[in-house]
Amino acid sequence: MNRARTFRLWRHTAAIGGLIVAVVVLMAFERQAALDWCAWAVGLVETKWRRVLLGPAGQALIVTVLAIVLELFFLHWEKTTVFRVFVRRKASAMTDLGFAIVTFSSFKWLMDYVLTFGLAFAAVKLGDALATRLGWMRWELPTDGILQVAGAFAVYYLLSTFVGYWQHRLMHWRWFWQLHRFHHSATDFNILTNFRANPAEMISNLIPALSPLALLKIPDSGLFAAFVFVNLAIASLQHSELPWSFGWLGRWVVTPPQMHQIHHSIDEEHRDKNFSNYPLWDQLFGTWYGGPNRPSAYGIPDQAHVERPRTQWLIDVWIFYRDVALALAAAARRIWACIARTRPTSPAADTPASIPAE
Ligand SMILES: [Zn+2]
Ligand SMILES: [Zn+2]
Repeated sequence: MNRARTFRLWRHTAAIGGLIVAVVVLMAFERQAALDWCAWAVGLVETKWRRVLLGPAGQALIVTVLAIVLELFFLHWEKTTVFRVFVRRKASAMTDLGFAIVTFSSFKWLMDYVLTFGLAFAAVKLGDALATRLGWMRWELPTDGILQVAGAFAVYYLLSTFVGYWQHRLMHWRWFWQLHRFHHSATDFNILTNFRANPAEMISNLIPALSPLALLKIPDSGLFAAFVFVNLAIASLQHSELPWSFGWLGRWVVTPPQMHQIHHSIDEEHRDKNFSNYPLWDQLFGTWYGGPNRPSAYGIPDQAHVERPRTQWLIDVWIFYRDVALALAAAARRIWACIARTRPTSPAADTPASIPAE
């Protein structure tokens, strides 16, 4: 051990030793005060952690960590999230990590609200307002009796995945693709890619807020609460290279990792396939790919995000709003031209004609 390292270790040991001596002295002379301080500190940490861990960000963190650990048992080391994010650390995986940290912190909503010019906030408020206004016609999903719960859950699952399917298809369409392509531009596919989403994409949350889902009163207990966790787990595992297809369940009940890998494939034959978490919607609407070919690589042919991995997503936000504004302006011009054409251009019959000059 060289001298510099010994000195560094000595400093740390002295600091920890000093702290221990201080605690022992405090315990010896001011025992009650020390115990009170301990109880206060434990209580503070406990309430803070309980709040954090039971919130949506905390749940996402727990499920993500579990999925990352699970992957270590079933995947080749170089395909795991741990290797890609913490060992190889390419720009794509680092971007995923950055967005995961933003999601786990409490500031994701701020980015969503700012970059959607408040429309993501409007979606939340609209959902609340509709819930109050339409209270009389909303259906409270039952929570007792296994048959009732199973039936209600089936209705909820079908409706939420149906809305989710069309919301996702919209994100692959025209201007919206400019926002969603950031999620697809991940070349180092891993579990944290789940969090790589352009905050302006949250504009599409207006769709579920205005959909028939608003007519369901979803209980936050029992099967429905468990489903939040299951959904998070499915979304995490779908962004892993795990070679799981779930057999017939994966074809008819829930989209397995292998099928979402196809959705992220760079290959032409896989483009715009396997949108839904419920494979039946893809099968019904002709967007299912169940063929034998695996992705040759992940990402999109457009290399903008590879060239500018940290900033392109912000440029995408600008492109999206610019293109929407241009399209709206063009539509307004067309409508104005139609109105102008329908206006009478020749003078009415009873209008006296002007007398020509001699
Ligand atoms: Zn997509
Ligand atoms: Zn994805």
